[in-house]
Amino acid sequence: MDALHQQIRNIDFSNWLDVAVAISVTTKGISEYLESTILALHQEIKNGACALLPNCKQNCSKTLRNFSTWCPTCVKWKGQIKSYNKYRNRERKIKWGDINSSDWPRNVDEMVKVFAPEWWRARTPYTEDLSVALHVIQNCTKFNIPVLICQRVRDVRNALFAHGHLQVDNAEKKNAFRILLTILKLPEISQTRSGRLAISQLKRLKSKCVIDLMTEDEAFRHHLVLALNPYKDTDREILNQYEHVKELRLCLREDQNGQLQRILTERTRIVGRVYGNGRFAIALIISFICIIIILLNIGHRDDTTWEGLHNEKGCLPMTFSSPCPWKPDFTFDGYLTNRPILIGRNWLIDKIQTSLFGTSSRGILLTAEMGYGLLLWRGYMD
Ligand SMILES: [Zn+2]
Repeated sequence: MDALHQQIRNIDFSNWLDVAVAISVTTKGISEYLESTILALHQEIKNGACALLPNCKQNCSKTLRNFSTWCPTCVKWKGQIKSYNKYRNRERKIKWGDINSSDWPRNVDEMVKVFAPEWWRARTPYTEDLSVALHVIQNCTKFNIPVLICQRVRDVRNALFAHGHLQVDNAEKKNAFRILLTILKLPEISQTRSGRLAISQLKRLKSKCVIDLMTEDEAFRHHLVLALNPYKDTDREILNQYEHVKELRLCLREDQNGQLQRILTERTRIVGRVYGNGRFAIALIISFICIIIILLNIGHRDDTTWEGLHNEKGCLPMTFSSPCPWKPDFTFDGYLTNRPILIGRNWLIDKIQTSLFGTSSRGILLTAEMGYGLLLWRGYMD
């Protein structure tokens, strides 16, 4: 923590960090209102005007340039989504060719693309990037947030990277917090759980810097990590130029490792307390080793009693020639004759048979990596 403080001796850089974290907090605060409204709109279209429409099989928006040739499902969905677009002059700018119209009924992101900025490709969730979130809120009629407020919040965010220097003076910080709190305190957002949490976090950030708050609340560390690793490449490139930021990232990582070590130590202590003097833990380890040895022996083909196994040379075909409780619907004898190197599991039939009939519990555990044919066994056992 001291190392973190040393990186932030400059008050304007400290303010910059606080505002960057405040933006991350605000983004999270808005997310619940944004996501629930979008999901409700998607359900409304899906179960209303577009209910019972057949699936689009050709992804019209990608394959057909001419709207008149689109299938009825895509035409209906397009008309419905477009009816919630707030600005008529924006309609012409929507790049339908970048959207997968056949996914509209099952993928909310494809619907969000109509309202989001054209550069958004859904690689990051629309709720986690403030620029995308504000575009969607501003362009979709389902949201009632005043445009002016959206614009001011966007200005606060853009100002962080606008001049290429990570400095925010006290007056700018105060103004930024006032604007961010304005949007969070709107009834639609402040009534949500994420909105309420963000308001309380911003109030704490106003009186204490984020580095100090991190010791009290892990959520601030999370937001600081997000703020120092923005999604936008251009923003990240600006941050990458600053030694302070690099050092901070390093400190956060090291501090997190230290914390992880503390958590592990704490867990070890708790385990020790639960298991008393450790005898239980030793017994547990011995049992675990025994189970591993047993499983390895089951999987080792040399440990079988099937007499014919000794005549096999690297090839163990499953022919079901020896007495076997599971009769296959068809055999592969002809196939195996032509492919003598096929590896089979006849030795395993004998092993399973012996285990199942030779023990009172009648239970067996088979483990193997993918591709060893366990599904085949399960099929026959069924
Ligand atoms: Zn279609």
